[in-house]
Amino acid sequence: MPPELLPLEKLTGFAQLADLQPQIVRTLMLRLRTNAGAIHLSNGNNGSSGTSSASTSSTVQVGCALSSTLSALNHSCEPNATATVQRGWLVVASLKPIQPGEELTICYVDATSPVAKRQEVLREHYNFDCACSRCVRELQKETFGKAAPEGN
Ligand SMILES: [Zn+2]
Repeated sequence: MPPELLPLEKLTGFAQLADLQPQIVRTLMLRLRTNAGAIHLSNGNNGSSGTSSASTSSTVQVGCALSSTLSALNHSCEPNATATVQRGWLVVASLKPIQPGEELTICYVDATSPVAKRQEVLREHYNFDCACSRCVRELQKETFGKAAPEGN
């Protein structure tokens, strides 16, 4: 979320309650928003497990969690890992072979969404334009009618 969408004058009440300056409250709120991961439950799930940070069409968001491990994982629309909450534990699992030293990435958004929707959600919620290989490939295909070569 861009800071200008969280005007300081709207934070004065929170700031007074916490005895903090509105600017500090805004900084904390933006950090929480960008570092918290959504908790999703699969439809039909009895609540014993859920996925964090990425939703799909078959899941429903039930909350969010703040985890130093989760916040260390960067986003890719073509992730090599997934983060799930299982019985209260954050479980990070690989989706494909990962080389030593390779960055672990998870998908913060619904990976089944079209590139424009993924970009919109990432820009609004996390304040960045995704430039992962999948986005580059799909944006090039939309722009020029052909896909860039696969790979990084
Ligand atoms: Zn992307």
